[in-house]
Amino acid sequence: MALHIPFDNTYALLGPGFFSKQLPDPVVAPRLIAFNQRLADVLQLGAGEPAEMEQIFAGNQIPAGADPLAQAYAGHQFGNFNPQLGDGRAILLGEVTGTDGVRYDIQLKGSGRTPYSRQGDGRAWLGPVLREFVVSEAMHALGVPTTRALAAVATGETVWREGGMPGAVLTRVAASHLRVGTFQYFAARGETEALKRLTTYAIERHYPQAQGALGLLRAVRDAQARLIASWMSVGFIHGVMNTDNCSISGETIDYGPCAFMDQYRADQVYSSIDRMGRYAYANQPKIVVWNLAQLATALIQQLDDPQEAVEEATAIIHAMPSLIEVEWLRLFRRKLGLETVAPEDLDLISDLLQLMSDGQADFTNTFRALSEGNAVEQFRDAKAFEVWNARWMQRRAQEQNAEALMRASNPVYIPRNHKMEEMIAAAVAGDFTLFERLRVVLATPFDVQPGAEDLRRAPEAHEVVGATFCGT
Ligand code: AMP
Ligand code: MG
Repeated sequence: MALHIPFDNTYALLGPGFFSKQLPDPVVAPRLIAFNQRLADVLQLGAGEPAEMEQIFAGNQIPAGADPLAQAYAGHQFGNFNPQLGDGRAILLGEVTGTDGVRYDIQLKGSGRTPYSRQGDGRAWLGPVLREFVVSEAMHALGVPTTRALAAVATGETVWREGGMPGAVLTRVAASHLRVGTFQYFAARGETEALKRLTTYAIERHYPQAQGALGLLRAVRDAQARLIASWMSVGFIHGVMNTDNCSISGETIDYGPCAFMDQYRADQVYSSIDRMGRYAYANQPKIVVWNLAQLATALIQQLDDPQEAVEEATAIIHAMPSLIEVEWLRLFRRKLGLETVAPEDLDLISDLLQLMSDGQADFTNTFRALSEGNAVEQFRDAKAFEVWNARWMQRRAQEQNAEALMRASNPVYIPRNHKMEEMIAAAVAGDFTLFERLRVVLATPFDVQPGAEDLRRAPEAHEVVGATFCGT
């Protein structure tokens, strides 16, 4: 049976300044590594033969209705503005509407050079493709808004990084690929008409109830505030929170050197290129506010009375830290089984995190152990934990549903860094067993699963991964 993708493309209608039409570069020997059938069902893709899917998701065959293009955008990278980034190794095939009524982009990543490639080869290697596949799907299962992974294809070609690596293409699905950097691109060029068109498009596509540029700013702020709080609640560190990686839809996007923390440390950094710790775990709430301030600066350039707009935009941005904190508190309360609100909750949570930091406790396993009654084992100083535990027990006495709430809020399994590395090394050697196991186990991360103890265990000292790489 032939794969049928019911494309209905709208981004291409924005006009030529928004993209470059670009076909993917064919690859020599595509082989389908993974296909996400449940996501395909949401996207209403007809069933296809593997041979055909390999060709399509490698970029060798353009499906009917596709209108391949590379999107233009700008962005602040580590605080420095680059007016010209764009899809250097990604191609938007087109859009489909899911069974949930949401319009989705279907994008190939690693599909060859585009006019925005600069010095890059437009390709991706197997490691980052499998990593993004597993981590983005795990995030979805954890309840964190994110782009999804539809397919992974090995290209049969060699990609040159530190050495020769097997090439691969990821098919990514997103509510859209509009970024803060997309707005910055037109603002920096002084293209006010295009900026207005983009604003209208973003409102219609993501926030139909929002009114005007400042209404859009408010809606994106709220979505990003919720997103960052949910990252914090699962110990996720994005690693490259540049404005081109900050999505208008409020989804996690661009899984480069991202990582889930093992031991809890507020200043934890994994990315090897983040030398100043700009994107450290506890900096993420501050950085997203900075990113939204850049969106505000871009958006107000289209308004008739910029001075009046500056004041209102400033107020919108200044409200963001407390919005993040409110959501953060709500999520961490749930992690402690607390549905009701009490004034001492912030101290209770902060004191636990301080104990975890002092005791080098594993973030994920400590929270899960709280609901399983054996958290004391996670702490070096049992006495200090018992003092905290007595406070928590007293606070919990007001709750009806603590156990169930905690089991639904504290995952058993996360994509642990040392397991990601083991998975990639095995896959490069031709063994995809661990990749397949991770896909299955991380699909229901809140359920204890027999035979998956190794995926739950915190790394031994010699297994700890200290640094992650962009791996582009
Ligand atoms: P990222 O750090 O992945 O968000 O990418 C930043 C910019 O570099 C984007 O414009 C990417 O499209 C571009 N880029 C990253 N890797 C490559 C590559 N291998 N070839 C061409 N462009 C790339
Ligand atoms: Mg990016």
